[in-house]
Amino acid sequence: MIAQDLTESARALDGKSPEAVLEWATERFSPKIAMATAFGAEGCCLVAMLAKIGRPVRIFNLDTDYQFEETLDTRRRLIEKYGVAIESVHARQSKAEIEAAHGPDLWKRDTNLCCRIRKVEPLRETVAGSDAWISAIRRDQTPDRAQSQVVEWDAKFELVKVNPLLHWTWKNVWSYIHTNDVPYNPLHDRGYPSIGCWPCTRPVQDGEDPRAGRWNGEKKECGLHSRG
Ligand code: SF4
Repeated sequence: MIAQDLTESARALDGKSPEAVLEWATERFSPKIAMATAFGAEGCCLVAMLAKIGRPVRIFNLDTDYQFEETLDTRRRLIEKYGVAIESVHARQSKAEIEAAHGPDLWKRDTNLCCRIRKVEPLRETVAGSDAWISAIRRDQTPDRAQSQVVEWDAKFELVKVNPLLHWTWKNVWSYIHTNDVPYNPLHDRGYPSIGCWPCTRPVQDGEDPRAGRWNGEKKECGLHSRG
């Protein structure tokens, strides 16, 4: 897909509904299109929408060894409700091998390295055979995400990135979940607006940034969506 084509598509799709963006993306790229999800509220909406569209998309979850049990249960409920396949993708090294190489609890000492081994590199390897990937980011989440386009070139992973929910608010997400009875992670009801690995996620207090509970506020991104 040439750069000008991508820019025109981004312009044409800006302001369209997430379903319309997914229709376009899957018509254009399926089956060489993937979606990574950690089963946050936004990702659950996208799974529901993709199930309705029905074209083949490689949906996968980065299993970091540290996901909450509630997260894994959300995966089970989505598969059961929508009949979609959701792969579990692991780091190339096992937990024991990572600990042998870097010591126990790497997340305590170097979250960037831990996220790189457990998230960034597995994602890179998984999307390598695809022409596009779908993410659940929203523009109002972080400064990096605010610079995104609905459709854009992802230089880090070298494929097209599709962001159908870019213009949605948290309210839009929950309206869709409740209207469509979408399974979601119950931790959202217990003060966790953003859910990642359990060692790096805590509930937030009223008035705190919704992502303040990730990495205790020390960083905003694990590296999958950062533009640098
Ligand atoms: S979020 Fe924490 S535990 Fe998960 S991969 Fe990153 S540093 Fe490791």
